[in-house]
Amino acid sequence: MMCPMEGRHDPRHRTSHLDPMAGRHRGPGRRASARKEGVTLREEIVVIGAGPAGVAAAVQLRRYGHDPLLFERAEPGGLVRTAWRVDNYPGFPEGIDGPELAGRIAAALERWDVRLLREEVQLVDLAGERGPIVLTAGDHDVEAGVVVLATGTVPVPFSCPGLDDIPPERVHRDILRLRGLRGATVAIVGAGDAALDHAMALSEGNRVIVLDRSGLGRAIAALREAARGRGTVEIMGPAVVRECRWEGDRAILLTGGAYPAEFAADHIVIAVGRRPATDLLGPRLLACREGLEDKGLLYMVGDVARGHHRQTAIAAGDGLLAAMRVHERSIGGEG
Ligand SMILES: Cc1cc2nc3c(=O)[nH]c(=O)nc-3n(C[C@H](O)[C@H](O)[C@H](O)COP(=O)(O)OP(=O)(O)OC[C@H]3O[C@@H](n4cnc5c(N)ncnc54)[C@H](O)[C@@H]3O)c2cc1C
Repeated sequence: MMCPMEGRHDPRHRTSHLDPMAGRHRGPGRRASARKEGVTLREEIVVIGAGPAGVAAAVQLRRYGHDPLLFERAEPGGLVRTAWRVDNYPGFPEGIDGPELAGRIAAALERWDVRLLREEVQLVDLAGERGPIVLTAGDHDVEAGVVVLATGTVPVPFSCPGLDDIPPERVHRDILRLRGLRGATVAIVGAGDAALDHAMALSEGNRVIVLDRSGLGRAIAALREAARGRGTVEIMGPAVVRECRWEGDRAILLTGGAYPAEFAADHIVIAVGRRPATDLLGPRLLACREGLEDKGLLYMVGDVARGHHRQTAIAAGDGLLAAMRVHERSIGGEG
């Protein structure tokens, strides 16, 4: 198929008319207002996702004088909100709680008066063979000159017989609903960094059982040590969860492999990995993705693009770099 940057189309055209100061006072303020249904709006720069990557991109763009529109489907601040403690973000030598860091990251949106639309983007695709890029969010379409995709990751699916019989409020993919939990037993399925981070977050006042499929303890050494130092955290493995059932008011997990046992838990947290959140990308855009990135029309930043190198500082740096490239292209540079 023909992509927007092929043929007679001049790729610079889409971004070259970006006036850094245009839109300074044009936006509806800190929170972008709802728009009329069915109307296609035109935006020069759209950022999707207000985690560390998207916020860093949007703020840097504001600093250059651009007026990006930022979409976020949940609470701004991103996945780091679910972290127990972040020890590797520069500037916090004692470490910082995940929710606090997420709050600080999100607070920059206010200071820089970023237009934020609290909506999920369902689709990003090319409108036709030659573009433009169009986003669908709710009932609205937005035509975007440049898209910065900072959507992070989503949990990979996990299933075992009987899991659907456990009440949904007792099965978790993160620990946001478990903050403040006390006196409970929590089984964590998985033993990577996120799993042990969750274990630490829940270890005060609860008993935490970590079910490690491989038994190899793949989490970073600092987290393994921290977990070992907490008497309330037990790491079991190799323990493969084969089956679950709901009995009385508790979930029973049956493990097989080298560690056949039964564990009773009030809550189950599943932390078996995450994959890039790219489901919103449409087929035409996917077919032209590389070309769009080469021409500076699409930037994929942070966890969505970083494979297993998923860290807050990397995501923020990615967002910053993308913003610099968008700006450089807007003033005629290579970006
Ligand atoms: C338990 C845990 C502990 C962690 N601990 C650390 C740590 O100690 N140190 C560290 O450096 N990193 C840590 N991380 C990793 C860190 O959270 C991520 O690397 C970082 O948040 C990635 O930022 P991001 O902006 O790329 O993506 P995210 O933070 O995932 O942000 C993506 C945003 O996009 C939004 N979004 C997604 N799809 C759409 C859509 N279609 N429409 C609108 N909005 C959308 C999401 O709601 C989200 O807010 C941890 C992660 C976890 C899970």
